[in-house]
Amino acid sequence: MNTLPRFDTQEVFNQSPAYENIDLFSSDGPLQEAVRVNGAEHEAPALAVFGRQWGTAEMFALARRANENTPKLYTFDPKGFRRDVVEFHPAYHDLMRASVAAGLHASTWTPSGQRAAPPAEVARAARYYMTAQVESGHLCPITMTRAALGALGADPALLARVAPKVVTASYDAAFRPWWEKSGMTLGMGMTEKQGGTDVRANITTATLAGDSYTIVGHKWFLSAPMCDAFLVLAQAAGGLTCFFVPRFRPDGSVNALRLQRLKDKLGNRSNASSEVEFAGAFALRVGDEGSGVRTIIQMVQLTRLDCGLASAGFMRMALAQAVHHCRYRSVFQKHLYDQPMMRAVLADLALEVEGAVALIMRLARAFDRAASDPREAAYARLVTPAAKYWICKTAPSFIYEAMECLGGNGYVEESVLPRLYREAPVNAIWEGSGNVMCLDVLRALKRDREAADLFGELAREASPLLGKDAAFLEPTNEFAGEAAARITVGKLAAIAAVAALEASAPPAVTEAFARTRLVQQHAALYGADGIEARTAEILLQRALPEASAV
Ligand SMILES: Cc1cc2nc3c(=O)[nH]c(=O)nc-3n(C[C@H](O)[C@H](O)[C@H](O)COP(=O)(O)OP(=O)(O)OC[C@H]3O[C@@H](n4cnc5c(N)ncnc54)[C@H](O)[C@@H]3O)c2cc1C
Repeated sequence: MNTLPRFDTQEVFNQSPAYENIDLFSSDGPLQEAVRVNGAEHEAPALAVFGRQWGTAEMFALARRANENTPKLYTFDPKGFRRDVVEFHPAYHDLMRASVAAGLHASTWTPSGQRAAPPAEVARAARYYMTAQVESGHLCPITMTRAALGALGADPALLARVAPKVVTASYDAAFRPWWEKSGMTLGMGMTEKQGGTDVRANITTATLAGDSYTIVGHKWFLSAPMCDAFLVLAQAAGGLTCFFVPRFRPDGSVNALRLQRLKDKLGNRSNASSEVEFAGAFALRVGDEGSGVRTIIQMVQLTRLDCGLASAGFMRMALAQAVHHCRYRSVFQKHLYDQPMMRAVLADLALEVEGAVALIMRLARAFDRAASDPREAAYARLVTPAAKYWICKTAPSFIYEAMECLGGNGYVEESVLPRLYREAPVNAIWEGSGNVMCLDVLRALKRDREAADLFGELAREASPLLGKDAAFLEPTNEFAGEAAARITVGKLAAIAAVAALEASAPPAVTEAFARTRLVQQHAALYGADGIEARTAEILLQRALPEASAV
């Protein structure tokens, strides 16, 4: 009798177990604190249920499958008739179903399209932050859908028809007219070939045709093209105007959105981003002719909050993976976690996430309260672009550093780090790129007295911690010049983060953040700013309590 040779040449050891089947909420000290201090404490048990659901191995597997099996465009059917449909892998639909069921696309609105009562924004922000840690591509239509209702407020009659279809827990992926579906999603089309930042240069036209308009032109980026309708900017007789462009006309025929091709993107691969031609598409006006930017900015402001939330979530997942791995991996007879230099790196990464999550959750609270409190409205106006700029631009280099903590394993696709790394830059680019965010802050400081006062107030709050005079932090005449805008806005984001940390983090953490991000110039590389050992221990236990090891 032949005996098969054994090919196992070794026992596998000194590897960390997979980071899955975890509670994304209860294992995250800074998130729990931020939820508590921003008024959503009573949501904690439900957030823990959500954190356990999204932290399962099954959700991580869905995320992998949705990104490995990218969406496909079917422009024509076999007989040459136009189809213009995109097919997604079932895993993408599963992720959409889970996010819609949890209300990520709508929980901040009532079924009539009014803002839901606080702490709706903070509670949703916590869920969004956890979801982004697992899969972010599908969050593009989720974000746009919830944000679009903000712009539809410019047309109360249309909002009253659309909102009940949006504010449901039902994900309906069928390619049918929106009014026949159990739930709908919304996208946006602003960017054209000749300009994305400068939307006033749009050349797509809208011609009045009875009660509706006919759109002719194109969009160079139109993400999630299987959304049921889009808010689109086009030039009408009265100037740049916002339009509601559904996939189906009122008579039930397919509207004239011709999907040209899908972008082959660096990351964000589970999500489809198309190029589209509007070949005489049916459209309804939203807001007055000529007020397109004013109308759609209501949507854009909300999407910017989500960009910051998602990038903070990416950093959180990268940090958790790094800390988790280093607790198991030994090099030179010692766990990496206990090697002094690795601890310095991990603690500095944890400090970055502390600032990011404290700031973005504080901002979510401002969105909750802006309608009833002018100071919170000014906070949202000033800090949204600053937080988006700072957090989204920090994420790529942060994730790279966390990847290196896992050594070669971190560079390998299954580790999740490569997907996070590829995903991260897009949040800085879309919905207002880095420089554009800085210009937006300058605009707010120049035009909005409350915003300028708020900067001073935040600086005064932070200054005792730094042992510096508030004048050290205040913008003085720095913001007079665009060339220095990144300095001003970086400082504003850090000051606002310090103020947020004062409410939610131990004093040692706040002090370390203030010292390393405001008094000192933070080193371009993590782990090089001398966080003391006791503070490092606090940071690492808050980042991932050792008891939460899987
Ligand atoms: C994956 C993906 C999906 C997208 N999906 C959508 C979508 O669904 N709908 C949609 O409408 N758009 C979408 N976009 C487009 C995106 O919003 C734009 O790419 C973005 O707004 C930038 O516009 P642009 O590409 O035309 O760059 P430009 O406007 O040419 O800007 C180029 C650079 O110049 C900088 N800049 C601009 N003005 C100034 C200034 N005055 N001073 C200094 N610097 C300046 C910008 O910050 C940027 O870094 C998507 C983009 C990507 C990558």
